[in-house]
Amino acid sequence: MSSERIAIFLQDAQLAQTLKHTTLLPAGYTVQQVEDRLTLEAMLRAQPPDLIILGDLLHDGPGGPQVSGIELGESLLKLNPGVAILMIASQDSPALTLAAYRSGFSDFIALPEAPAHFDELLQAVRRAIQRRKRLLDWMRLEVRRSTQSLKKQVESLEALQKIGRAVSSSLDLDNVLTRVVEAAVELTGAEEGSLLLLDEDSGELYMRASRNFHEDFVQTFRIPTSDTLAGDALRTGRPVILGEKTPKKIKTAYLVRHLMYVPLLVAERPIGVLGVDNRRSDRPFTDYHLTLMKALADYAAIAIENASLFDRTEVERAKLETILTRIKDGVIVVDKTRRLLLINQTAQEAFGIHGATLANKPIADVFQNADLLEILNSDCNQEPFRSEISLEDGRVFNAQATPIPELGLVVTMQDITHLKELDQIKSDFVSTVSHDLRSPLTAILGYVELIQRVGSVNAQQKEFIHRVEASVQNITALINDLLDLGRIEAGFDSRKEIVPLLAIIQFTVDGYLNRVKDKDLSLDLDLPSELPPVLGNPVRLRQMMANLMGNAIKYTPSGGRIAIRARSEGGQIIIQVSDNGPGIPASDQPYIFDKFYRASNVEGDTPGTGLGLAIVKSIIENHQGRIWVDSSPGLGTTFTIVLPVTDQEL
Ligand code: ADP
Repeated sequence: MSSERIAIFLQDAQLAQTLKHTTLLPAGYTVQQVEDRLTLEAMLRAQPPDLIILGDLLHDGPGGPQVSGIELGESLLKLNPGVAILMIASQDSPALTLAAYRSGFSDFIALPEAPAHFDELLQAVRRAIQRRKRLLDWMRLEVRRSTQSLKKQVESLEALQKIGRAVSSSLDLDNVLTRVVEAAVELTGAEEGSLLLLDEDSGELYMRASRNFHEDFVQTFRIPTSDTLAGDALRTGRPVILGEKTPKKIKTAYLVRHLMYVPLLVAERPIGVLGVDNRRSDRPFTDYHLTLMKALADYAAIAIENASLFDRTEVERAKLETILTRIKDGVIVVDKTRRLLLINQTAQEAFGIHGATLANKPIADVFQNADLLEILNSDCNQEPFRSEISLEDGRVFNAQATPIPELGLVVTMQDITHLKELDQIKSDFVSTVSHDLRSPLTAILGYVELIQRVGSVNAQQKEFIHRVEASVQNITALINDLLDLGRIEAGFDSRKEIVPLLAIIQFTVDGYLNRVKDKDLSLDLDLPSELPPVLGNPVRLRQMMANLMGNAIKYTPSGGRIAIRARSEGGQIIIQVSDNGPGIPASDQPYIFDKFYRASNVEGDTPGTGLGLAIVKSIIENHQGRIWVDSSPGLGTTFTIVLPVTDQEL
């Protein structure tokens, strides 16, 4: 027995009742008589009937407003488009019939006289229910079909996503390419798949990865790019699709029915092709397969490009590593947080450290050498600078530190032990010769002075004697400077005492007052009433002040201004000697503390040996202090000295 459900809503409840009992129930339908719109809507939401029979005019509930059956039917169809509606009108009206069909009702029937037309009605009911059933079956089928196709698409997308992840996370090219070919075969349902790459040397295509091909075939597979389908795809950069009823060996190395080749493009340049084929099955490849193959080919191209970039980077890295390892200079690189990034063999040997686990360690855990640690701890934003590193075994390295703001600090070191030894030999020689020259020079000076005392000399002879005296005095000054420098460098002045620096400055200034006046210079003194004492050699500290002040007076033209300032700050004494003289060209500034260096600003007849600042620097270093120069050509020069204060009492 049929169990279809019918809802019936007519203005004439009596007619509805009659229809139900005389026709519908006997035909096996389950019938529910409805008297208002709300009940109908609730039915549609909960469990839609197979058919709704509506009158053309209705009372919405007993005594309720009158509604049109067409309007009610339309709103019900909006609620559930799958429901079948049969309209029963009290009279035949072409306009009403048209409106019912236009609104999507299943059928329209005029019932002017009941029950003569009840048979006709039953047939209409059967038709409508049948039609709805077919419609629902078709819809179910369609839904299943599109669900399946969606499922397939989701699977394809998941497969593509997996390959994408493999491409970006794996550097194993063989593995990635094999997965691409496998995915191509699976997603297109093909029998075989291959990835062919161009061999640049021979101009042929070889099989780089494959699925379902015999291993021997893969090994020996080589085809030219001309006159082959794969070659066509490669040369044109466009996909090639073949579909044949019978297997053909058209421009391929083997018999196929269906085949698809998609080019692999790297920066628009084809480097190979991805292919799938069916030899036995007659299943053709579709546009959707082509879209998938293109995506897979892109992944393969990216993987190949990544691998080649990685290879190139690796080669460069290996080259750099070889250079760094083999180079005879020591190289140390630290990052901004003072962790070791790199140390080459030479540097490892110099500092007696070994091991592959040094990278990323804090420098304090790796090195003990104080000179090196001081360099490595310097400010990464400052200018490149040079320094020396003394090793325990007596070797000396020249270290060039280059701060690299984004990275940290790079230190390169060259062994200058040999140069240092030569320098020492030279200094020893100079000091011996200077020493040996001093006595004969004193004798010359003595005898020259005696000449005038032992007899009369004419004016010209007097002039010559004067010149000899001046020259001998110059040589004596040079020799004294050399001897001083030798002594200071050799550390013969190591005996230190508490020195009142203020008195020393004052004493030096007093000694120069006459020269300041003679040259018509103005002198600014900015000295505090007290300065803490320093531990040092008073003679050398006076020499330091005298050399600096002497230079300021010597190089500043008449009418100029010189200034001496001193202050104590944070356990240090800072002394500045300034002038508004010619200044020192920037290119000369790094060298003015070298022995015998005279800058390009010195006029030819300015007396001097080029040793004064070398002596000053040696003295300051012997006192654990620092000196630097700030100078602008045309504006003047300032030398700044920093000396540590001693905590010992005067
Ligand atoms: P010198 O005997 O030539 O003065 P120094 O070692 O004292 O030798 O100075 C080295 C060079 O530095 C000088 O030759 C000069 O070019 C430059 N110099 C030193 N002090 C001054 C200064 N106050 N003003 C300008 N140039 C200076």
